[in-house]
Amino acid sequence: MNSTLNADLHCHSVVSDGTLTPEALAARAAARGVDLWALTDHDEIGGQHRAMAAARAEGIGYLTGTEISVTFADQTVHIVGLGFDADDADLRDGLVRTRGGRGERARDMAASLERVGICGAYEGALRYAGNPELISRTHFARYLVESGVCRDTYEVFRRFLTEGKPGFVPHRWARLGDAVGWIVRAGGMAVIAHPARYGFSANEEYALFTEFKAHGGQGVEVVTGSHSAQEALKYAAMAREFSLAASRGSDFHSPDESHTDLGSLPPLPADLTPVWTLLAHRVH
Ligand code: AMP
Ligand code: MN
Ligand code: MN
Ligand code: MN
Repeated sequence: MNSTLNADLHCHSVVSDGTLTPEALAARAAARGVDLWALTDHDEIGGQHRAMAAARAEGIGYLTGTEISVTFADQTVHIVGLGFDADDADLRDGLVRTRGGRGERARDMAASLERVGICGAYEGALRYAGNPELISRTHFARYLVESGVCRDTYEVFRRFLTEGKPGFVPHRWARLGDAVGWIVRAGGMAVIAHPARYGFSANEEYALFTEFKAHGGQGVEVVTGSHSAQEALKYAAMAREFSLAASRGSDFHSPDESHTDLGSLPPLPADLTPVWTLLAHRVH
């Protein structure tokens, strides 16, 4: 498969914390010139068959996708899975367990916000959650904007919901080796999502890449809506150092919130191996 095609392999629908349906995302991707698309909802693959059918109707290529929440070195890391069998039972079970703690976490987040005078956040966030099993910080962020506490969701994450701020609740997600294993055994490729977003030291980051590879991980996001041009260069070098394939994805969540739209990213550096050249047999 062509290495310069407009691939966008990271975005979210109402099945997790996006605001558009899988069908609306497929239409938006097609309209914006995406040739190969993947819907990567957090800890969920409930939208995969809809996304696949919608991509076919729009005449664009599709790879199955998800973005699994992992705890590594006491931090949350996201692992994107691409091109797996969406009906794989072990992957499904793993994701059910991974998202299982979200309800209780959300109640604890609301209790924490109440201590600084913000009331009704659990009910408020739940109204934004298209999937009640997948209540996330993004839904709380939307409620804090709606209720006038913050101007936009970026301000929310500066003032709330992150480590040391009101509304933050530490949480233990899946183990790195488990998440990579579920994806790989379902026939897919595991990819480290937006590596520049983590607050790791150089040693911790080296450990993440080393262990990820040892578990069978094969890719890293280089060009993403979460990276600056400089960060893309840094992780292009990491992809070379660790012999990882490179992925590209906007991480689009919403027309009203996301700075990077579907299909609007710069190309991958030409010498890297795009993940999709290794997943040609998995394209729908
Ligand atoms: P959760 O899985 O519930 O912890 O929610 C994580 C989601 O919150 C991410 O996927 C983003 O959509 C959003 N998010 C987290 N941190 C930030 C941030 N600093 N700025 C903007 N959005 C963020
Ligand atoms: Mn998200
Ligand atoms: Mn992420
Ligand atoms: Mn994402």
